[in-house]
Amino acid sequence: MTALRSWVPGADGSGFPAEHLPYGVFSTGDGPARVGARIGDHVVDLARLAADDAGGVGAVGDVFARPSLNAFMAAGPDAWRHVRSRLTELVCDAAARPLVEPALVPVDRTRAHLPVEVADYVDFYSSLEHATNLGRLFRPDGEPLLPNWRHLPVGYHGRAGTVAVSGTPVPRPSGQRRVGDEVVFGPSERLDIELEVAAVVGVPSVPGRPVPTDRAAEHVFGIALLNDWSARDIQAWEYQPLGPFLGKSFATTLAAWVTPLDALAPCRVPGRPQDPEPLPYLRLRPEDDWVLAVDLSVALRPAGTAVEEVLSRTSAAGLYWRLPQQIAHATVNGAHLRTGDLLASGTVSGPAPGTEGSLIELTRGGREPLEVGGVRRTFLEDGDEVVLRGEAAVGDGVRISLGEARGRVVPGAVPGGR
Ligand code: MN
Repeated sequence: MTALRSWVPGADGSGFPAEHLPYGVFSTGDGPARVGARIGDHVVDLARLAADDAGGVGAVGDVFARPSLNAFMAAGPDAWRHVRSRLTELVCDAAARPLVEPALVPVDRTRAHLPVEVADYVDFYSSLEHATNLGRLFRPDGEPLLPNWRHLPVGYHGRAGTVAVSGTPVPRPSGQRRVGDEVVFGPSERLDIELEVAAVVGVPSVPGRPVPTDRAAEHVFGIALLNDWSARDIQAWEYQPLGPFLGKSFATTLAAWVTPLDALAPCRVPGRPQDPEPLPYLRLRPEDDWVLAVDLSVALRPAGTAVEEVLSRTSAAGLYWRLPQQIAHATVNGAHLRTGDLLASGTVSGPAPGTEGSLIELTRGGREPLEVGGVRRTFLEDGDEVVLRGEAAVGDGVRISLGEARGRVVPGAVPGGR
């Protein structure tokens, strides 16, 4: 595939070339939040373009002058493909410049909003290495992997209402934790991150009808970076027997840009072997057996420093459970998908040191501090900023950026405080 050429200044060779065109929600000044597509350092105001290009981008109806992607996502794959193909044509054809230019806004003049009105939020646990590492840390005396792990994509339902767009500050949570034999209350002392990739559901499924693996991808609008902030001390005390609760529900950061699943088609690669073979409802045809070769990283800028350092680099290609299996599993009991559902991968960790997607793994449970920008860190301090990034090769030297999921820890409110 030859690289596309765009007339939009700076688009070619950036992380947002014509091959990418991710969607987000933005505003300028006091204007209303609306849907845009990113190209280079610009945002195409799709509400404006739809009005000027009625038979083209506007043919999908009134879905862009909205404060979330949900209406566009609900319109389905034909609408998504129509808009994507028309947009690609417009940003590559110099003759379309007079039509598109009035809708171009420099990204640094925009404010990003949460792109999706999140319906349900599920967080899986699909990295074998992460599950093994965490099992060792949380249950040092037992088998690291619980007996169910290789039979089903383990997950839990998270809190949709506290998903926030990249750049939103993250107040430190308070809660219960156990210190020795005592139970104490206070601000978390083991605040951590989780490097994840989330699928965003566009097309709902029918209540009571499980979605089979070979139809699962049709429901997915796109992919975005996600940080599942985790208070390990709160989590360790509360998680048995029902799983994570307040240790994770205080904040989840979602990237501002959602990459269409179609833009990532060139970086689908076969998944790793699964042993034992899953039950029939989780089996995959070869064409559905894919994971995404997206390169991921975690960077940290410690409070009071100007240096941002990469702590970890890994790839989503190593995930054990595939997205079609996660969707088939999440609906096999009759629960249905809704527009805006967020299905997060679980922490992405690789097998080698420096490929772990959380601080608890990178510091071996806090026992081996990291040296970052001249300061030592195990877990996060107030003022620390974490940036997750993702990148993928989509053919012929073209790399696209999944943008970033950024968040800075700030002191939290404590009960009784004002
Ligand atoms: Mn997680």
